[in-house]
Amino acid sequence: MQISANKVVAIDYTLTNSEGAVIDSSEGRGPLAYLQGHSNIIPGLETALEGKNVGDALQVTVAPADGYGERDDSLTQAVPRNMFENADEIQVGMQFQTQTEQGPHIVTVISTDDENVTVDANHPLAGQTLNFDVKVVEVRDASAEELEHGHVHGPEGHEEH
Ligand code: ZN
Repeated sequence: MQISANKVVAIDYTLTNSEGAVIDSSEGRGPLAYLQGHSNIIPGLETALEGKNVGDALQVTVAPADGYGERDDSLTQAVPRNMFENADEIQVGMQFQTQTEQGPHIVTVISTDDENVTVDANHPLAGQTLNFDVKVVEVRDASAEELEHGHVHGPEGHEEH
């Protein structure tokens, strides 16, 4: 079965950055399952997988525009320390979820001083060229419920999401 819109696809993958460092991998966790054509994964990878079959292996280089976007330096912001409940425990590299008009968003602490905690709302992989080593391990039709929800359900049936 070929990968096309509304198919459930399972892939093994390794993601490396342009320096060759492994950023993420399915190894040890099992394949990643997603619903093709529903923006479950970044556009550059979804496009590259269209038309592929079980057993196909491919290497995909994804530019930032087709990945997590370009970095936007205006997305860094100094927040007064007293806005944080646990201000004493905040360290560079910590991540927090914030609510925005576009929904929940992850921000990363990039610096702190006595007054402020500076956070960066760029995706941690924004601005990076991403290299995926991908192997297609399963392609199946999506269930009606999966299509309605726009994502894949696990083998135990519906999980709350
Ligand atoms: Zn669901």
